[in-house]
Amino acid sequence: MQTADFLDKQITYLPGVGPRRAELFRKELAIETYRDLLQYYPYKYVDRSRFYKISEIETEMPVVQIRGMLTGYSYEGQGRIRRLSALFTDESGSLRLVWFKGTKWIPGTYPAGKEYIIFGKPNVFGGTFNIIHPEIESTEKAASRKVSSMQAQYSLTEALRNNFVTSRVISKMAGTVLSQLTTELPETLPEHLVKKERLLSFNDAVHQIHFPESNRDLERARYRLKLEELFFIQLNLLKIKSLRERKIKGIVFNKVGPLLNTFYEKFLPFPLTDAQKRVIKEIRRDMGSGHQMNRLLQGDVGSGKTIVALMCMLIAADNGYQTCIMAPTEILANQHYNSFNSYLKEMNLRTGLLTGSTKKKERTEMEAALLDGSMNILIGTHALIEDNVQFSNLGFVVIDEQHRFGVAQRGKLWQKSDTPPHMLVMTATPIPRTLAMTLYGDLDVSVINQLPPGRKPIKTMHYFDSSREPVFGFIRKQIDEGRQIYIVYPLIRESEKMDYKTLEAGLEIIERAFPPPQYAISVVHGKMPVRNKDLSMDLFKKGLTQIMVATTVIEVGVDIPNASVMVIESAERFGLAQLHQLRGRVGRGADQSYCILMSSEKLSREAVKRLEIMVSTTDGFEISEADLQLRGPGDIEGTQQSGMPFTLRIADLGRDGTLIEYARRIADEIITNDPLLDNKRNLILKNELKRLFPPDRSWSMIS
Ligand code: ADP
Ligand code: MG
Repeated sequence: MQTADFLDKQITYLPGVGPRRAELFRKELAIETYRDLLQYYPYKYVDRSRFYKISEIETEMPVVQIRGMLTGYSYEGQGRIRRLSALFTDESGSLRLVWFKGTKWIPGTYPAGKEYIIFGKPNVFGGTFNIIHPEIESTEKAASRKVSSMQAQYSLTEALRNNFVTSRVISKMAGTVLSQLTTELPETLPEHLVKKERLLSFNDAVHQIHFPESNRDLERARYRLKLEELFFIQLNLLKIKSLRERKIKGIVFNKVGPLLNTFYEKFLPFPLTDAQKRVIKEIRRDMGSGHQMNRLLQGDVGSGKTIVALMCMLIAADNGYQTCIMAPTEILANQHYNSFNSYLKEMNLRTGLLTGSTKKKERTEMEAALLDGSMNILIGTHALIEDNVQFSNLGFVVIDEQHRFGVAQRGKLWQKSDTPPHMLVMTATPIPRTLAMTLYGDLDVSVINQLPPGRKPIKTMHYFDSSREPVFGFIRKQIDEGRQIYIVYPLIRESEKMDYKTLEAGLEIIERAFPPPQYAISVVHGKMPVRNKDLSMDLFKKGLTQIMVATTVIEVGVDIPNASVMVIESAERFGLAQLHQLRGRVGRGADQSYCILMSSEKLSREAVKRLEIMVSTTDGFEISEADLQLRGPGDIEGTQQSGMPFTLRIADLGRDGTLIEYARRIADEIITNDPLLDNKRNLILKNELKRLFPPDRSWSMIS
């Protein structure tokens, strides 16, 4: 059998893996084939040559291995918490082994009165130690096994553990597969690369990652597999980018436009910052280049991305093309619609607003105006993506707050035009360079690294719930000075009801502290009818209410310069990116602005860290770096919503930043020299890419 076919074999061929277990592996770990299994890499290693005495066990030990006697079983508890318990003793003491599953067969398989080796995480329960669902093996059986000081540990799920799939089980399966190999595992990188980078072969790396012989071997294996993983991601992105640049013709916007000029000279409400000017130039250059633009515009909250988008839309309009901008919330789409209309009111352009709550009749009219070309600028939510929204000549697409959309949604807008429109995706949640490189690595990047002049850095303070009075006092003073206040409650995605309750309870307190007629309060939350939401927003915007009590529906984009205080309730429940976004709703005018983080006194260590970071810096990039370090990329706002287009097996976007950059450099060199990977020496890469990133995936967007 060829090794390639061998790797595609189903794991049901392995001893001990029946259909039920195979299904479990598929569901829990996406492991179906030998290859999947071999590429399910351990996340750490433990010393299995080390035995502990029971008296040596301390709380907080991750895992221990003990040799001792299982002296007897008993059943404890009733109903769902009925469990099997065994007393396990060595000369230094005793502890309990506990099973919730398999309670029927365990006593028969591991009879009492014999010596066993057990392995697992000790917990304190009722004053003594116990180990729940330990790995257990008779001493005779263990003696026949090779003891390793670096025994691989694999991430497991609850369901796997309950079905007695331990790290040792996976390790054993991997060992079986490796022992059945008749030749080496085929190399996945071209020889020239393996040589140049002095990498371990794929075969050796896989052997060593599961069964390391030394620390050094393990390190080399990890390096090789991480680099390879990151390299293929970059290679894929750069190949897409290069293909797009070479194959896809862009619409050429070569007219120097009267609309843009008129706007610039007559209606621009403020002088642009240098950064804004630079970015408009970059975009303009792309639009005239004959290539299709795919650009990411990063700029911290409040840096003024909207006006940049608008001016670029005017360039498109000058050249006779339609444009659209897609925003993640109706509130934001409304706001863009209103501000565009006021910016453009003296200019002869037709704008439209399309959201989920647009009336059927308006919608039909708009669809007609888009098709006959009379509608120039369309603003909306993801309602824009729907199939019946057709343009006559869409030339430029802006996606605002891209991190709120799925990567795939980017592609949908492409298909609205025969020649793909120029794309500008904007994100205000700065993401670390290396993460951007991985998520948006096929895009060019522009950065607005400057805030409009006159902004004072927002002062951030942290208060406990118990000291609400001084906060209310402060708010009153601000309102007396004519300022407006946001008070935001967390949005609990799982339970809108609960979410509303927190807001409702909070609202009562606030209404009591700020009674009419002296004070007026706007309320906005997700469950309100859109009409009421708009009304509430509008009253606040016009300054007719002084306080806006809201859930995180106002998180992104909302721009009301007179609001100068952002109070975030239960701040410990928000992620850093979200806190930063919320805070960005203030500090937009010339006044000193404040962000007040309210939290309970019971805080996890991580929550304390997050609040400290928020108090100490307003720099979005700094915050995003901290976020990546604290939580790991899977949890970074945006990535978890939009879903990373791939899962990483071994590399860590938070820790392996340097390696990401290195991988990109290597990939770049290869693509520059051999854009289509047609060179024979790169054949292996072409095939691997095809396997790893099947070409029909929507986000690759290239046929
Ligand atoms: P974001 O980049 O977060 O989307 P916005 O585009 O909403 O930021 O801009 C934030 C605020 O700054 C808006 O009120 C906008 O009118 C204002 N603004 C943008 N550019 C400038 C500038 N160059 N000078 C002064 N104010 C500006
Ligand atoms: Mg914005």
